[in-house]
Amino acid sequence: MDCIFCQIVQGKQKADVVYGNDKLIAFKDISPKANIHLLVVSKKHIISVNELENKDKGIVGEMVLAAKSLAKEFGIDQSGYRLVFNVGRGGGQIVDHLHLHLLGGGFLNNGQPGFTDN
Ligand code: AMP
Ligand code: ZN
Repeated sequence: MDCIFCQIVQGKQKADVVYGNDKLIAFKDISPKANIHLLVVSKKHIISVNELENKDKGIVGEMVLAAKSLAKEFGIDQSGYRLVFNVGRGGGQIVDHLHLHLLGGGFLNNGQPGFTDN
């Protein structure tokens, strides 16, 4: 499996991990688009929201709640933040393993996260 996020989940690839439990792991984005940019990643390899099934409801709920807790921990719960699931190439998805972007604390270049110009 050459999925980069599976490799991080399995500890085969280094990442700046900030949280983990049995279902998910959270780490700092290697190329941040905001002052705080974390990725909340399911441990199960699910390609994207498009591939979610009814039985995955619990994972998604935990991802959102973990993002909420991390927003508080990183001090952006009051200033505000953005939670983003990019889906497919047209939606800006580069890594085909389900992840939730947590962005806040001021956006770099005042840009929209996860999108290129074309
Ligand atoms: P997406 O465009 O929604 O697929 O987001 C993938 C994100 O993963 C991008 O923001 C990348 O900067 C980030 N990323 C890719 N490889 C790594 C890595 N090894 N460690 C941390 N973040 C990564
Ligand atoms: Zn994977």
